[in-house]
Amino acid sequence: MDLSDIQKTAGLRTPIRNQLFIDGKFVDALSGETLATLNPHDNSVITHVAMAGKADIDLAVAAAQRAFPKWSRLPAAERGRLLLKLADLIEANAEELARLESLDTGHPLKDSRFLDVPRTAGCYRYFGGMADKFQGETIPVEAGFLNYTLREPVGVVGQVVPWNFPLMFTSWKMAPALAAGNCIVMKPAEITPLSSLKIAELMAEAGIPPGVVNLVPGLGSVAGQYIAEHPGIAKVAFTGSTATGKRIVQASAGNLKKVQLELGGKGPNIVFEDANLQAAINGSAWAIFHNQGQACIAGSRLVLHEKIADAFLDKFVPLAQSIRLGNPMDDATEMGPLTSLQHRDRVLSYVEVARQQGGEILTGGKAPGGALSGGCYVEPTIVRAKSFKDRVAQEEVFGPFVTVLTFKDDAEAMQIANGTDYGLGSGLWTSNVHRAHSFARDIYAGMVWINCYKRVNPGSPFGGVGQSGYGREMGFDAMREYTQVKSVWVNIDAQIPPHYKR
Ligand code: NAP
Ligand code: MG
Repeated sequence: MDLSDIQKTAGLRTPIRNQLFIDGKFVDALSGETLATLNPHDNSVITHVAMAGKADIDLAVAAAQRAFPKWSRLPAAERGRLLLKLADLIEANAEELARLESLDTGHPLKDSRFLDVPRTAGCYRYFGGMADKFQGETIPVEAGFLNYTLREPVGVVGQVVPWNFPLMFTSWKMAPALAAGNCIVMKPAEITPLSSLKIAELMAEAGIPPGVVNLVPGLGSVAGQYIAEHPGIAKVAFTGSTATGKRIVQASAGNLKKVQLELGGKGPNIVFEDANLQAAINGSAWAIFHNQGQACIAGSRLVLHEKIADAFLDKFVPLAQSIRLGNPMDDATEMGPLTSLQHRDRVLSYVEVARQQGGEILTGGKAPGGALSGGCYVEPTIVRAKSFKDRVAQEEVFGPFVTVLTFKDDAEAMQIANGTDYGLGSGLWTSNVHRAHSFARDIYAGMVWINCYKRVNPGSPFGGVGQSGYGREMGFDAMREYTQVKSVWVNIDAQIPPHYKR
């Protein structure tokens, strides 16, 4: 395969994979259909990727079912060794993966290099190490009996991921599933399939057997929906919007699949009057503007104590204005484009929504002109809302768009924090230790960051409550999600049951 011009310009050294990955081989879709994947910097076509239909997914499920008996019975340490090898290969191909991810998603190369790729390698390494450390229990039961539990893999798992962190989210889902002995059929997002296909190539190189992992890029409404419905799939793990999550739950009912959902959020990021203001300003910018705000855990509601609100905004607004927007492939770029034009337009539509409810646009609110006008860019946007009930304070915008709200006292801060249907990430900035921990206790959320924001680690549980979904990724919790418990009873004293004595 020759390198295309677009690849050469992007500094890629190896051919881009653009086929389905089924049973250890890259293949075209049976229908021959493809989908274009675009570079969000200028909306040029990077490549056309095979588009899986139902028949392709049937083949992927069958391959996974064939691979399962051997893979699930492989010594756990051996599965772990293969994941550790994959982590090494990811590091050996770090620059290639970073460039591919930036080209396909718009993540600034700086972020892909220092966050997405190392976190991906770190995730496979963590769960590679975990594979032979996750164990069942022995339970103290009545005399003469031994009771123990086995943690068994669920079987063939379907995984459906969104476009905002394709490389990272693929690892969050695949690493624990594989460590626990499951086989996988995964659908990447339609607009960002490239990095996960590269990972499939590296998995084959690492020696992960054919059929253990299958990748079926395609449409959500077809391929995603069919994975959720498929009777041969025992569990479906999904990251994406709350609306799609609900569809998945319904589709999964046919064979009562185990379901895990990581859905949307509207993270409250609360700054109290006793906070270290500079730390809170920088942390709040990171909370919302990293990855162009396309993060479920983004601190998209900036909740300021009224005493410090002006001083905070006096520095926060110019900081947002100084963020360097540009081509993600440039080393200096701090903010790239959003991942699609359709999504950019959706984000911009919220500027009008804000205005209609009396919101004040403090900065941004439009697409930049000039050299960036052909891409999916949005200026860092700060909106001051009138009420925490306004739409821009309730609905997930999923862009570089932060809604500012103010409060008078702790009770009002808590009312605002818990005043949405979501419950995913949340943060607070304070020097009062009582306040910090009482808020951590009372916030309705899956994650709380105190004097920091958006920290993630493969050992720390990640997930939400309420409309943000259920189940946890990362850590021992992820291994629990990807296994089921079997309870085994042994009559060790060879007792004859006392019942029906004759
Ligand atoms: P989305 O539209 O729900 O799509 C997510 C994935 O689901 C994509 O692969 C999509 O395919 C697929 N899909 C669409 N319709 C489907 C159906 N009927 N059945 C099965 N799969 C289907 O979400 P998005 O807009 O791409 O992603 C942004 C959302 O993800 C935000 O709400 C964000 O908060 C959430 N998110 C949550 C977390 C978390 O951990 N809680 C993390 C990141 C993002 P296509 O690509 O073809 O559309
Ligand atoms: Mg793309």
